[in-house]
Amino acid sequence: MSDQNPVFIPGPTNIPDRLRRAMQVQTRDHRAPDFVETLAPVLEGIKKVLNTTDGHVVTFPSTGTGGWEAAISNTLSPGDKVLVARYGMFSHRWIDLCQRHGLDVEIIETAWGAGAPADRFEEALRADVDHRIKAVLVTHNETATGVLSNIASVRGAMEAAGHPALLFVDAVSSLASVPFHMDEWGIDIVVSGSQKGFMLTTGMAILGVSPKALAAMETARLPRTFFDFRDMMGANAKGGFPYTPPLQLIYGLSESLNMLFEEGLDSVYARHHRLAEGVRRAVAAWGLNLVAQSPDLYSDTVSAIYVPDGFDSNKLTDHAFHAFGVSFGIGLGEMNGRAFRIGHLGSLTDVMVLSGLATIEMAMADLNYPIRLGSGVAAAQEYFRQPARPAAKSA
Ligand code: PLP
Repeated sequence: MSDQNPVFIPGPTNIPDRLRRAMQVQTRDHRAPDFVETLAPVLEGIKKVLNTTDGHVVTFPSTGTGGWEAAISNTLSPGDKVLVARYGMFSHRWIDLCQRHGLDVEIIETAWGAGAPADRFEEALRADVDHRIKAVLVTHNETATGVLSNIASVRGAMEAAGHPALLFVDAVSSLASVPFHMDEWGIDIVVSGSQKGFMLTTGMAILGVSPKALAAMETARLPRTFFDFRDMMGANAKGGFPYTPPLQLIYGLSESLNMLFEEGLDSVYARHHRLAEGVRRAVAAWGLNLVAQSPDLYSDTVSAIYVPDGFDSNKLTDHAFHAFGVSFGIGLGEMNGRAFRIGHLGSLTDVMVLSGLATIEMAMADLNYPIRLGSGVAAAQEYFRQPARPAAKSA
């Protein structure tokens, strides 16, 4: 496996040299009086990416999964009811985490390839006349299926039902890659991580927390220590951490935010849309199908692609790895063996994406897939040759 080749897994993503250098720093004293000068701008910068003025940013040395745990353990009590739709591996894992914390999880089973079902959320919320449901949990970008859900419509459903539940959104594979509007969408907690759109090493959970979620924290009784927002926010307010911070990641995040703002968030989103569209053109040219059921659900960060009947997607990803030294995402959960994934988020260009398409095409040709060598690459090339930069999706 050559470390010269980019990865096409949907996170962790390729780390630009600039960020690798930014993370290569000598130890500094996190209790020194100047640490706040490093930390405070990072927390402010994340607010811009979240598009929030009211929200608080909280980070933990952890991963997205720790972010899920922080969201529920800071706001809910044992036996509290939460409403969540299962439509992929990550919504499934969040459900599992809630159940293991002793929450009463009302699950809306949804086809893998579909998105968050706002209408069914509304129905369930209307039926909950006693307001037992304390939170609605939504995976914004289901990385297992390549589906981006419409959060505004979920918020709309909650409003239509006149329900006061909190809204928690998993934005692990969407934040810093597609437009995000924490305040406008009325989100109470956003959960993300350092290793996808922020292009960093894994190791930091990044959360946005609304004033309403902070109020819920006052009465929440689920046990929490490491992930207690109060400890983190109290220490951050004094310019520090309640325990030893991942200093290198904080430096990395500072530089990552510089890169995102230099490119411009709108340009970052437009680039992701463009890369994704190039991949989708290739998939169409191969005659293959996306797992995402309809264009309004297409994710601009990852495409999950069904292999033809009789083929095993694991053999394809293994072959691409062994023969060409390039990693693509395997099919997860229900999609295992049936679909492979192309991650097209983070530090990527048109040319890098073309190399990934060429590689997976060679792998498919080697395994006698019914595709014409070069067809997908040519379709993406035609698209990437167009000078016009299409606008990013706004939801
Ligand atoms: N949620 C989504 C949508 C993800 O894609 C992932 C990881 O890929 C997670 C949550 C879990 O995050 P982590 O692996 O950082 O714990």
